[in-house]
Amino acid sequence: MQIFALVASLALTLAALFVLVPAVRSMLRVIRMGQPASPSRTDDPGARTVTMLKETVLHTRMLQWTWVGVMHWFVFAAFLFLSTAVLGAYFQLIDPEWAWPIVGHWYPFEWFSEFIGALSTVGIIWLILYRQKHHPRSEGRGSRFFGSTFWQAYFVEFLALLEGAAILFIRGAEFHLADHEHATRAHFPLASWLGDALYPAGQGANENLVYFIAFFKIALAMVWLIVIGRNLTMGIAWHRFTAWFNIWFKRESSGRTALGAVKPLAVGGKTVTLDDIDDLDEDARLGVGAIEDFSWKGLLDFTTCTECGRCQSQCPAWHTEKPLSPKLLMMGLREHTYLKAAGQAGHAERALIGKGDAGEGSYNPEGGDFVIDEDALWSCTTCGACVEQCPVDIEHVDHIVDMRRYQVLIESNFPSELNQLFKSLETRGNPWNMSPNARMDWAKGLPFEVKEVGKDLESLESVDWLFWVGCAGAYEDRGKKTSRAVAELLHMAGVSFGVLGNRETCTGDSARRAGNEFVFQGLAQENVETFKEFKVKKVVATCAHCFNTLKNEYKAFGIELEVVHHTQLLNRLVREGRLTPVAPGDGANQRSITYHDPCYLGRHNQVYSPPRELLQVLPGASYVEMERNSERSFCCGAGGARMWMEESLGERINMNRTTEAVDTGADQIVVGCPFCRVMLSDGVTALQAKAGAREEVEVLDVAQMLLASVKGESATKAEKPPAGAPAAAAAPAAPAAAAPAEPAASGAAGASLFDEAPAEPPAKPVSGGSLFDEPTAEPAAPAGSLFDEAPAKPPTKPTSGGSLFDEPTAEPAAPAGSLFDEPTAEPSPAPTAPGGSLFDIPADEAPAPATTGTPEPTAEATAKAAPSGSLFDIQEEPATPGPEPTAEPEPVQAAPAGSLFDEAPAEPPADPVSSGSLFDVPEATPAAPAPTPEPIAAPEAEPEQHEAPEEPKGLFDD
Ligand code: SF4
Ligand code: SF4
Repeated sequence: MQIFALVASLALTLAALFVLVPAVRSMLRVIRMGQPASPSRTDDPGARTVTMLKETVLHTRMLQWTWVGVMHWFVFAAFLFLSTAVLGAYFQLIDPEWAWPIVGHWYPFEWFSEFIGALSTVGIIWLILYRQKHHPRSEGRGSRFFGSTFWQAYFVEFLALLEGAAILFIRGAEFHLADHEHATRAHFPLASWLGDALYPAGQGANENLVYFIAFFKIALAMVWLIVIGRNLTMGIAWHRFTAWFNIWFKRESSGRTALGAVKPLAVGGKTVTLDDIDDLDEDARLGVGAIEDFSWKGLLDFTTCTECGRCQSQCPAWHTEKPLSPKLLMMGLREHTYLKAAGQAGHAERALIGKGDAGEGSYNPEGGDFVIDEDALWSCTTCGACVEQCPVDIEHVDHIVDMRRYQVLIESNFPSELNQLFKSLETRGNPWNMSPNARMDWAKGLPFEVKEVGKDLESLESVDWLFWVGCAGAYEDRGKKTSRAVAELLHMAGVSFGVLGNRETCTGDSARRAGNEFVFQGLAQENVETFKEFKVKKVVATCAHCFNTLKNEYKAFGIELEVVHHTQLLNRLVREGRLTPVAPGDGANQRSITYHDPCYLGRHNQVYSPPRELLQVLPGASYVEMERNSERSFCCGAGGARMWMEESLGERINMNRTTEAVDTGADQIVVGCPFCRVMLSDGVTALQAKAGAREEVEVLDVAQMLLASVKGESATKAEKPPAGAPAAAAAPAAPAAAAPAEPAASGAAGASLFDEAPAEPPAKPVSGGSLFDEPTAEPAAPAGSLFDEAPAKPPTKPTSGGSLFDEPTAEPAAPAGSLFDEPTAEPSPAPTAPGGSLFDIPADEAPAPATTGTPEPTAEATAKAAPSGSLFDIQEEPATPGPEPTAEPEPVQAAPAGSLFDEAPAEPPADPVSSGSLFDVPEATPAAPAPTPEPIAAPEAEPEQHEAPEEPKGLFDD
C-alpha cells in the first residue's frame, strides 16, 4: 500500500505540475495583454496590504451576507490549512506517525486542525444546500446563481467537502496507531471518536489507512489542480489564488470600493484630457473597444470573478428583466478574453459590443458577431450595487463606462436620445436645454435676497458656502422647490451663502457616465475656472450627482473643495440648535415616512445617516425603512445618464422602487436627490393612476420636510386635519388665476399637499408627465457652444458653435463617424444616430418619447404633448405659444390664494396657511425671523456610515 500510495502520489503531483505551470504562465500572459492601469495600483503598499488582509482573513466583504460569509470563512480557513495538510501527507507516506515539528503535537494546533476540518465540512454542506435552495430551477432569474457554471461549482464543492472531511479521517487513523504516544482524546478531540467508530485496531491496518488517506488527500488536491489548470476561466476555483492580488491592486489604496469618481479616461495608462486631443495618435483608442483595451487590472478582475452572483442579485437592471447582469458581463468578457488570447479562430475580428438579431443572446463569448449586446451596456445606471457587493473587489462600473466611452468617442454608436443630451450640455450647459440665463428663476419670489456672485458678491470668500443649485435645482420644477427650501433653511439658520447664478453650468455627471468624457471635461474645466475666479472653497449641493462629481472628480482639475450634501449641512444645523423642528401641536397630524437612498449619496459616498437623523427628529413623523435600504438600496433608475434615455426593456426601475416604497405604507417618500425625486414622483403618479397607491402618498425632499417642521407645519394630506387645525391640506384649489408654476407632474389624483393647486384638475390623473414635457421658457439660443459662454479664459478647443469635436473648418462640420474621422469635403446628409457626429441631431430623428419621466404604458396619459418631434428636439424657433412656460412664469397678477411660491403676488396672501402648499413661501411676506433655536437633543454623533441593514433571518436566506 505504501509503495503504491507513494508512486501514485508522485505521479499525480508531476502531472499536476505539468498542467499547472503552463496554465499559470498562460494566465499571466493573458493579464499582461492589458493596458497599464490608471491610476497607479501600487501607491501606499502598506495600506493595500492591510486592506487585503482585512478583506481576506477577516472576510469583511463576505460578511455583508452574514451566514454565507461565516460558512465561507470556515471553508477558506480549511483551504489555507489544507495546503499544510497536503504537504504533511507526503511525509506521512513515508512515516505514518510523522507530525509537524514543534507544533505537530501542540494542543492548540491539533484542536484547530480538527475543528477547522469539522467546521469546513459543515460549512461546505451548508453552502451546497444554500446553492440548491436558491437554484435557478426554483428561482429562475431571481437566483443569484442564474447563469453561473454549475458543473464547476459542484466540482469545487465536492472536492472541498472531501478535503475537509479527510482531515478528520486521517487523524482518526493516526489516533489508532497503537504505539502512538500522543494517542489520547485530549490530542484528538474529534477524530478519536471517528477512529473508534470506523477503524479497526492494530498498527498495520491503521498504517495502511494513513497511507491510503494521505494518498487520497494528495490525489484530490492534484486532480483539483489539474482540472483548474485545464480551465483558466474557472473563477470559482482560481479566485482562491487571484483574489489576493485583485484586492491588493484595487483602485483605491484607502480600501474603499471603486465608486465615487469614475476612473479617468486613459490611453496606454496615461490620463487623457481635452488638451491632449490634438496630440493623440490617429489610431488612439479612447475607452475600450476590444478586450486588450482593458487594463491588466480589468483582465485580472474578469479572471477573479467567482460567479457568486452577489452583484447580479442587487443589480436594478437585472431585477427589472433587462439584459444586463454584472456577473454575466464579467463571465462573458472573461470567456472571450481567454478564447481570443488562445488565438481561437474568429475571435480577433469579433466586435466587443454589437446589436444582434432576436435569436442572438446578450452575451456571446464563444461565437457570433459580437460579444456583449449593446442593450446590456446601456442598461447600467452606474448605481454601484455590484461594486459594493462584490467580495473580490471587481470594478464593474469603471469597465462599463470605459466601454461606453469607446462607443461614444470612437464609434459614435449610442442611444439616439443621448444626442440631445450632449448637444444641450455643450450648447446650453444643462441637460434640460434651458436658457443659461434662466438659472436664477428658482429664487424668484423668495422673501430674502439670494446673493449671486459677480452681482451681489465679489467672491465667495465673504460667505460661508457656495450653494451649488445644479441644473435640476434651477430648472426642474420639483427640484426648484428643494432649492427654495434649502435657501430658506440656510437663511433661517443665519448661514451666509452665495450662488453662481448664470455662471453655474452642469457638472457633467451624466455626460461622463454616458461615455462622453470630453463634454464632461469641458464642463468641469469651465466650472473649475469659475470656482477659482470666485475663490470657492466650501460647497453645499442638493443633487447627489453634483455632490459626487464636485466632491470626487473635480480635484483632478486642480481644485480642492469641501463639498457637503444639503442633508449633511442641515443635520449639522439642527444638531447645533440653529434649526429647530417645532414640536407637534394639538392639531398636528401623524404620518409615516420612508427614505430612499440616492445611489450617489449612499453607496458612492457613504452618506446614509444624516438624512435619516433629520427625518427621525421631525415631529409627528414615524419612520419606516424599506427592505432594500442603505448599502443594499435599490436604484431609482436615473443614474448613468439613464435619466435621459428610453427605458423600453422590462419593468421600469422607478416603478419597481416606487412599489417597494408605497408598500411600506408610508405617506411620504423622502429623497435627497432631484433625479430620484423625478423618478419616484412619476412612479407614484403612475401607481395612483391605476389605484396602486393611495392618493395621499407623495414624494418630497428631506429639505422640504425639515422646512415644514421648522415652521411647525407637520400636517400632511395623509390625514384629515382635526377640527381647528390649519387647513392647509383641505384648502380649496386656487382659482385659475393662481395658475401653478409647477407642471402637472403629479396629477390631480396624486397632487401633493406641497404641490401648488392646479388651475383646473386634469380630467383624469396625469400620470407623471415627462421630465421633458416642459417647454423651454425661452426660445433656444442660437446654437452657441456651452464653451462660448464668456468663459473666464478662452477655451483652447474649437468652440465655434458645433460639436466639441467638430473640426474647425470653414465648411459645415461633417457628420464624422468617429472622433478622428477626417472631415469630408462636402457635408453629408444628416446621419442617423449611430453614425453621425457625436452631437449632430439627425434632421429626421424620430421623436423620442420621454423615458424616465413617463410612467408605464398603461398610465401614459401625458399632461402635454411634446411640442414637436422628439422630446429632445431643440426648439430653434419659439414654438407656438402653446404650452406653459416651464421656468417660473413672470406673474402678471397676484394669485388671491396662491402658493407662497407663486411669483410676485400683488399682495401677500392674508393667510398663507389657509391655502396653497404647506411649504409655500409667501413672496411678499417678510422674511421669517430666524426662530430662536431651542436646542434639541443632539444626535450622539454624525456617523457617515449607516449601520448595515438587518440581516435576513432564515439560515439560508442571506
Ligand atoms: S452599476 Fe448598478 S445597474 Fe450597473 S451593473 Fe452594477 S448593479 Fe447593475
Ligand atoms: S463580479 Fe463579484 S459579485 Fe459578481 S459574480 Fe463575480 S465575484 Fe460575484
